[in-house]
Amino acid sequence: MIAVLVVRHGVLPAGALEATSEAQGNVLVIGSNCSAALPELSPYATRITICEWGNFAPSAWANALTAHIGLEQRIVLPASPDGRDFAAHLAQSLQRPLYAGALRIGAITIELVRWSGQAVETLVAAQEFVATLQVGVRSIEEAPGEVVVTSLQVPESFTGNDAEVVDVLPPDAASIDLSEAPRIICGGAGIQTSSTFHALFDIAEELSASVGATRVITDRSWVEHQRQIGTTGVVVNPQLYIALGVSGAVQHTSGLGQPEHIVSINTDPHCPMMQLADLGIVSDANEVLPALLHALEQRKSNA
Ligand SMILES: Cc1cc2nc3c(=O)[nH]c(=O)nc-3n(C[C@H](O)[C@H](O)[C@H](O)COP(=O)(O)OP(=O)(O)OC[C@H]3O[C@@H](n4cnc5c(N)ncnc54)[C@H](O)[C@@H]3O)c2cc1C
Repeated sequence: MIAVLVVRHGVLPAGALEATSEAQGNVLVIGSNCSAALPELSPYATRITICEWGNFAPSAWANALTAHIGLEQRIVLPASPDGRDFAAHLAQSLQRPLYAGALRIGAITIELVRWSGQAVETLVAAQEFVATLQVGVRSIEEAPGEVVVTSLQVPESFTGNDAEVVDVLPPDAASIDLSEAPRIICGGAGIQTSSTFHALFDIAEELSASVGATRVITDRSWVEHQRQIGTTGVVVNPQLYIALGVSGAVQHTSGLGQPEHIVSINTDPHCPMMQLADLGIVSDANEVLPALLHALEQRKSNA
């Protein structure tokens, strides 16, 4: 098995280390400034093939990689936006089935999430396939021994049917893919009105964070389902997770990954989210929200 990781400007995608562990450390890194990703990747890898092939070009890359990567029976990519996109091109070039959204890849079977996470389908896997691995569902393991690093030069014939990138805009906190967001501010049932909930977007902008919600909030239709974190929502893995009025039900926290820092603001000091938090603030989230926004705006105007 080999893990294929798309790197942009030296930054690994979400789920990169999980895919690397799934492939027992055998990994191909492709994109721009790949070498910059090596320090983070190396402890988990045994063999790294670097393809310093520039800007994301999934169709051309897939065509050019067929001969090299076709020897691997199982190819896994993290289910990040680039991983999902590239996986489809690889599967097409190699004429293999694509198993999208894998939860677990076994010796014989493969478990896939279906219906926006509401169902899990178990299939007998084909001998050769391309799969995307859901982000945040697998542990990572350090690899023993030295890592062997080799490079694959850009091939002479390098064509595909790729979109031309006109401009790259900075991420908009309101629209960034939750599964990729390094910072998330999440609102739960402790928030009393839709307008208070929507103040989260203003705070998110100040913190360069993305807005998440519990199912109670999406059931109220205060925000679209794609912002729901949990078993039947998005699986995330942020560095910072701020929860306002979120109890921490298992169906929610199972989609949380392993945040480095959790801040919880809740009136109940004993709820599960407060137990998970590095910093627990026992307070009314509806009062903390405007105060936090005011403090952040003041900090900006003083800067
Ligand atoms: C099959 C199934 C799938 C599910 N999938 C998901 C899923 O994907 N994602 C998900 O989130 N849920 C999911 N759920 C629902 C889940 O079980 C919980 O009901 C939900 O996560 C609770 O959301 P909550 O924390 O917002 O609300 P509650 O559990 O009601 O918690 C509200 C919290 O707010 C606090 N609070 C109250 N007032 C204030 C205040 N003024 N200030 C601060 N804090 C306050 C309370 O102390 C409490 O801790 C699923 C349930 C089922 C059965």
